[in-house]
Amino acid sequence: MKVTDNSEDMAGYGSYSFSESVPVRYSCGVLVIGAGPSGIAAAVSAARAGQTVVLCERYAFAGGMLTLGQISPILGSVCPGTFADEFIGLLREEDGGCPEYRTRNGREIPADRETAKRVTDRLIHSEKNITFLGSTAFVSVMKRGEHVCGGIFSSQSGLFGVESKITVDCTGDGCAAAAAGAEYSVGRESDGGIQPMSLEFTLTGVDESRAITAWGGSDPVKIPSGPYAGMEYRELCKAKNREGELPRNVTIVRLHGGTRPGERSVNATQTNGRDPLDPESLTGAGSDLIPQIAACHDFLRKYIPGFENSVIKSSSDAIGVRESRRIHGIDAVTDEDVGTGRARPDAAVHSAWFLIDIHNPAGGGQAEGFAHEAKPYDIPYGALVPAGVPDMLVAGRCISGTHRAHASYRVMVICMATGEAAGAAAALCAASGRQPSELPPEELRALLRKRGVEM
Ligand SMILES: Cc1cc2nc3c(=O)[nH]c(=O)nc-3n(C[C@H](O)[C@H](O)[C@H](O)COP(=O)(O)OP(=O)(O)OC[C@H]3O[C@@H](n4cnc5c(N)ncnc54)[C@H](O)[C@@H]3O)c2cc1C
Repeated sequence: MKVTDNSEDMAGYGSYSFSESVPVRYSCGVLVIGAGPSGIAAAVSAARAGQTVVLCERYAFAGGMLTLGQISPILGSVCPGTFADEFIGLLREEDGGCPEYRTRNGREIPADRETAKRVTDRLIHSEKNITFLGSTAFVSVMKRGEHVCGGIFSSQSGLFGVESKITVDCTGDGCAAAAAGAEYSVGRESDGGIQPMSLEFTLTGVDESRAITAWGGSDPVKIPSGPYAGMEYRELCKAKNREGELPRNVTIVRLHGGTRPGERSVNATQTNGRDPLDPESLTGAGSDLIPQIAACHDFLRKYIPGFENSVIKSSSDAIGVRESRRIHGIDAVTDEDVGTGRARPDAAVHSAWFLIDIHNPAGGGQAEGFAHEAKPYDIPYGALVPAGVPDMLVAGRCISGTHRAHASYRVMVICMATGEAAGAAAALCAASGRQPSELPPEELRALLRKRGVEM
């Protein structure tokens, strides 16, 4: 490796350049970067379309926010027949069947992180065309001329390359597309405000005979007994926040039902105004959020019947970043699409639905007072194709769309569906030597329909 000190040219801490010859250790048709809900779907989808796939993930195991982030429940819906149906079926089978909840969020599928780890691992390894590389962080894209021909990754033994025909960026943060030169937006169009980061945690030992569930700040559930009997839970949360018994900006402690009796998935902690792309800001988020877990639990034990003897089973291993880069595509999901339920003849995902759930970038609760309704909408194929970047697709929460639209399509079922579509499109392009921008959406739709996707 050749390292050059450029410090004299620069103010502040200066800079270094380094150049290194990187060995190519793998070659494949489709490289998928990031093994979260979208990446798993993309890898399986491309492999089932006959391509060799390398799936690279910076953590040791797959699942992204579902496993590392301990996010539960799985939310959102799309048309029947997608990979999400298969995945949820496998989860429930592995868990011996588990409850399903119906709320204003739609269908809530609780997911146990250990079960999710086993299911994702088995799924990936049961596809013989997939090579899964964990503990492998994306560093940069490889280019041949203007063409993206794979990625460079770091490992404990140094850098190595993975050569590919098509690369699918499923990192959530759009790292690979950005490194390849894609343009992107971060945050709300009006002021750049970014949804807060959180750490989710799971409680056990909740007394089901007395305890409530509460899916969010517009849930009118009442406290059933004790000194606050009859009071709306959401009002008690706000009051205890004002009294300083809940952390600043935590005005609602969401209590989702678990996979087993006595469990709750708690979505409450939050830290505002942080930059998801800055390591110092992310580190500060961890220090800010860890004590909030104990504070929220203390509140529950002290004031909410049935939670007195609950214990914290576990919490997220990764900072929960709700939004970062939205890569600019040749098309995008717009506010209008989500608000009016626009049908698209070029849909890659049909009938996507979730509330427009914008956690307040500037304080507690929701940015717009409450989560507005969306109508089932289509995600156009062009939202998965980064503008001006060849040989690449994006899937998951970093696809092309507005801040409000993103607040709907960022949930896991919809991310899986964009992953499945991007993986299938990547396979079609890799097999035929076409660019993603040249692929007629109808060809992708025909392949998805053949698999049973009702679109
Ligand atoms: C606090 C919080 C609560 C949420 N609640 C819900 C909920 O209740 N229900 C729901 O359905 N959705 C929820 N969401 C949204 C949902 O979890 C995410 O939007 C979704 O998981 C995004 O999927 P993805 O595949 O795009 O990205 P991710 O799940 O983030 O997966 C990306 C993967 O890429 C990997 N990666 C990133 N960078 C690199 C790199 N440089 N090299 C290698 N690998 C890399 C990551 O480690 C990760 O495994 C929540 C999100 C947050 C943050």
